[in-house]
Amino acid sequence: MPDAKRKSDPVAPGLLDQLKSVVGPSGYLEGTADTDPYCVSWRDGWQGATPIVLRPKTTEEVSQIVKLCAEAGVAIVPQGGNTGLTGGGQPHDDMSEVVLTTARMNEVKEIDLENDTVTVEAGVILQKIQELARDNDRLFPLSLGAEGTCQIGGNLATNAGGTQVLRYGNARALVLGLEVVLPNGEVWNGLRGLRKDNTGYDMKHLFIGGEGTLGIITGAVLRLFPKPTATETAWLAVPSPQHAVKLLGHMKSRLGDQVSGFELMQRSIIDFLLSGVPGHEDPLESPHPWYVLAEMTGQGAPDSLSEPFTEALGEAMELGLVEDAVIATSGVQSAGFWKMREDLAEGQKQAAVSIKHDVSVPVSRIAEFLERADAAITEVYPGMRPCAFGHVGDGNLHYNPAGPEAWDGNFYDERETVNRIVHDLVIELGGSISAEHGIGRLRLEENLHYKSPVEIEMMRTLKRALDPKGIMNPGKLITF
Ligand SMILES: Cc1cc2nc3c(=O)[nH]c(=O)nc-3n(C[C@H](O)[C@H](O)[C@H](O)COP(=O)(O)OP(=O)(O)OC[C@H]3O[C@@H](n4cnc5c(N)ncnc54)[C@H](O)[C@@H]3O)c2cc1C
Repeated sequence: MPDAKRKSDPVAPGLLDQLKSVVGPSGYLEGTADTDPYCVSWRDGWQGATPIVLRPKTTEEVSQIVKLCAEAGVAIVPQGGNTGLTGGGQPHDDMSEVVLTTARMNEVKEIDLENDTVTVEAGVILQKIQELARDNDRLFPLSLGAEGTCQIGGNLATNAGGTQVLRYGNARALVLGLEVVLPNGEVWNGLRGLRKDNTGYDMKHLFIGGEGTLGIITGAVLRLFPKPTATETAWLAVPSPQHAVKLLGHMKSRLGDQVSGFELMQRSIIDFLLSGVPGHEDPLESPHPWYVLAEMTGQGAPDSLSEPFTEALGEAMELGLVEDAVIATSGVQSAGFWKMREDLAEGQKQAAVSIKHDVSVPVSRIAEFLERADAAITEVYPGMRPCAFGHVGDGNLHYNPAGPEAWDGNFYDERETVNRIVHDLVIELGGSISAEHGIGRLRLEENLHYKSPVEIEMMRTLKRALDPKGIMNPGKLITF
């Protein structure tokens, strides 16, 4: 559905000159050779075009840019590391929108170890925040495959999830304060490091997960946690998703919230990884239908989790929940397991045309979802190759069926039929069609289809109130 407010006129040369003078010579890129990397997405080939990529250095510059664009009614596409998977960070292809990257806003402003917070600009790379926390004997738990490239502003704008949500929550749970440039150019300074602040609507939560449609996040106060001092990681073979869910319950009953990562992987995605991405080896000698990568972390002596974890695993094997296991004996081995997990998306990208879903259902219904979705798609596409992995502790599955081996044509062309089967089932099971990647352009229609009219109208009311001219990332997440 096109966005009624979205203008498609090319940006006027006069405005481009004004924008350039705000950021100075090193603050913008022009010409397709330089702007193209900002116009194409990591996945699914969203390809746009822009006359200019603005690279402001300060919040004040962002504010001036937005004021000029608001006056002219020109749309702005905010961008962080451009690793988003839903086409939310690319401009449309008619040269009517400017791209604003926060790449040069990459300063750590303050680390307060008594308050356990770090204050950063939006363009700081996620991995840098993780390293900074580690160097200060703390943990910043947000962790995902793109962490070496994505920026904290993008993580917050998409309310990113990743592998530690089970214990620490998603990006939303890791923020105490935000600074945002609003669609009229005004700066909202909400950079407060407070755990209690009961003074009205909690405005930061509008912008977290807002995908740049309500304003540009320019800074954040993030929560830090104690750095784990004991870690146990294991690669486990399990007979089925049902067994994986039971195993999760067993581990939680034995080790409580020390269960910090619990990732489910189907054999097919491991095959895609091993054939498509060099540098990986199968951790187990023989193949199994499903695997779990499990991690326990705690605060005791380095080996304090070893015995309880091994015992719990032994019990799980006796119960028939686990068929085979490798417990990492070194940090290098553990990192190797996690690298396999992180590279799954790349493996799938290299190996097969698949139709991707980022869904969540209650953890108790994961097995039912997988069984019914596979059966329903196979009925329409015999020989379909099931492929799923995900954060099973959060009920979040990347359910990415690949076309039959002998499929004649591009299986991706079947996405409408496949999406309908998958998303209808997700909704029937009380789930969500987007668990962590967001909506962007990829799932805009689907979201409008499945969300209740009351919820869509509330979203539109907020959008119209904060961005009456519709200049913030139009055509993404919500239409006017
Ligand atoms: C290999 C790989 C693995 C991934 N794994 C995960 C995963 O496990 N969990 C997960 O949740 N995601 C995952 N992702 C998706 C992606 O990394 C996340 O969505 C990430 O949070 C996006 O950050 P970014 O800086 O790249 O944002 P971008 O891609 O640049 O932007 C994403 C969206 O946020 C908006 N935006 C960006 N910066 C700002 C800002 N400062 N203010 C307002 N809006 C802004 C953009 O307009 C766009 O709509 C993965 C991606 C890849 C490539």
